[in-house]
Formats: sequence, C-alpha cells, structure tokens
Amino acid sequence: MPPSHREVVIIGSGPAGLTAAIYAARADLAPLVLEGEPSSDSDQPGGQLMLTTDVENYPGFPEGIMGPMLMVDMRTQAARFGAEIETVKASRVELSALPIGIWVGDPDTAEPTHTADAVIISTGACSLMLGLEAEERLIGHGLSTCATCDGFFFRDQEIAVVGGGDSALEEATFLTKFASKVTVIHRRDELRASKIMQNRAFDNPKIEFAWNTVVDDILGDDKVTGMRLRDTVTDEVRELAVTGVFIAIGHRPNTDLFIGQLLMDENGYLLTHADRSTTDLEGVFACGDVQDHTYRQAVTAASSGCMAAIDAERWLQSRHD
Ligand code: NAP
Repeated sequence: MPPSHREVVIIGSGPAGLTAAIYAARADLAPLVLEGEPSSDSDQPGGQLMLTTDVENYPGFPEGIMGPMLMVDMRTQAARFGAEIETVKASRVELSALPIGIWVGDPDTAEPTHTADAVIISTGACSLMLGLEAEERLIGHGLSTCATCDGFFFRDQEIAVVGGGDSALEEATFLTKFASKVTVIHRRDELRASKIMQNRAFDNPKIEFAWNTVVDDILGDDKVTGMRLRDTVTDEVRELAVTGVFIAIGHRPNTDLFIGQLLMDENGYLLTHADRSTTDLEGVFACGDVQDHTYRQAVTAASSGCMAAIDAERWLQSRHD
C-alpha cells in the first residue's frame, strides 16, 4: 500500500494532542491523530487524565469534570471539525527529511504507513510507579501522581508521599496546605532532593519521614485506607493508616520513538525553542508533557497543543508563500 499523505499528523492524544487537533482541524489542515492503543489499564489513549477521577482545576467546569470525560469531550470536539483519529501507535518515524515518514505496525517495512508535511508530537510522559498490583486498582481513588491536581481532596486527612527527590518534597510541602499530616516514605536514609527543599520539609511540623522504608502494598478495595510498609534495615513490617498516597518517584517522557532524531535533555524530554513548539527539525513540533517537566498540567498541555497547531499552520503557510 502506498503511504497516505497528510498535511499534519499528530502523534498522541492527551490534552496537548487533541487541542492541537482541534486547532489544526479548524485551520482546514484535516489532521490525522494517531491516538495510541490501550496496552494496559494505565496505558490508554487520552493520556494521564484517563487515570484521574475529578478534575477541578480545568477552567470552564465550575463543578469539575471526570478526567476521562474531559478527554472524550476533547476527542469529540476534534472529530467534529474533521480531525481523523486512529486508535494505533506509531512504531517508527523518519523525521530528518520532508515529507516525514510515519510507520504504524511493522517498523521494518520499507514504505511508511503515512507521510506528512508536518508532525506534532504530543506523546506525553508517564509517572513512574512502584509496580504494585494495587496501583492499577486505586489510581484516582486516593492514589495520585499529582499533588497540584488532587491535594485539595485531602483536607484534614493523613496522607503519604513516596519518594526522596525534589518532586516528593515539593509535593509533600504543598500537600501540608490541606492534609493534617504528610508522611514521606523514602527507601534510603538520605534524601536526593536539594538542600533547600530538604530544609523546608524538615522545618514543616506537618511532615514526618519514614526512612529506609519501602511500600510492600497499598491497602483498600475501592479507595485507599492504608499502606503496608517494610523497614529495609530491620525487615519489620507495619501498617500506616492513610487515606491518600502520592507517588513521586519521577517521570519518564514517552520519547523512545525519537531517540537519535530529536534533541532531548538529559532526562529524555524533547527540546523545543523558547516560547515556541518548534524543534531543531523543520516541520516537527512538540507540545505537552513530552517537552514540559515543569508544569505538567492539563491546561498547560492544552495551551501548548494550541501553540503547536498555530506554529505548524504558519510554517506550512510559509512554504507556500
Ligand atoms: P528524582 O530526582 O529522580 O527522584 C526520585 C526519587 O524517588 C528518589 O529519591 C528515588 O530514590 C525515589 N525512587 C525512585 N524509584 C523508586 C522506587 N521504585 N521505589 C521507591 N523510591 C523510588 O525525581 P524527581 O524528584 O521527580 O525530580 C526529577 C528532576 O526534576 C530532578 O532533576 C529534580 O531536581 C527536578 N525537580 C525540581 C524541582 C524544583 O526545583 N522545584 C521540583 C521537582 C523536580 P533514591 O534517592 O534512593 O534513588
């Protein structure tokens, strides 16, 4: 089959990709969105909002909206303006020459499945998880990976944060605005976080530390009720009663597909030009968490998707001028 050619192909379908699709479709670019395909409960088209319950900080929803519903609505809105959405994953890309080649399925076939004048990359990032079975069951039900998003739900409750880096201490400190007590659970007796973050956490009377401690299990059938913790020095096992658990052990951007083709920082995030979605390659734009390790919010991802569609549209236009 010869490749199908598009002006714009969007890879990824979180708030960044679908907002890019809405803007590109309304600019008459008939974008194709490769939305990904479900491979597990925690890896689904729609990105990280598919793993959340209430979203109360996305503007325009005074009563809040469920994360998956927000994504269904964005998808419907993109399709309404003519975006075509395929439930497949890109398996290979060739970004260095125009038109750009995009493969779906067998990456070793000679011909790409699609070619495109411009590609918008919005493949997002994943929060690293502990690998416990309970995580799939309880995510969005007391288990969270985003304090900014979910801290508000834990007013006057006792909760825990897992991790010992800057993210863990930043989240723990933020969560003390709401929670009555925050226990930071760290697997070593020394934090990885910067000294300033450490001092801020040590000075906070609501934060306690569980050192040399790993999480054997998170307890609760349909909402978090506690954790089973193990002391790595004494092997002692104990239960900690908490109603919320925040996992803050790092993030991994979904950029394997682009290794060797696009500039990345030391953690694998794509590099875009300042205040732009442009990358170092002509016709290749990036938006959302795949290039943002700072804000990681649905609304910032959506706004960067808008920027990417406008940048792509202007770049395409400049080629015709
Ligand atoms: P990080 O620095 O990689 O720290 C991850 C932490 O999680 C480490 O303490 C690590 O323990 C622990 N961990 C990893 N895997 C674990 C597992 N399976 N079980 C239990 N614990 C585990 O990640 P991050 O805190 O997300 O920070 C990422 C980058 O962003 C860093 O460069 C950080 O400085 C930066 N950042 C900056 C700010 C800020 O300046 N405001 C805020 C957030 C993040 P070990 O220490 O034992 O390895």
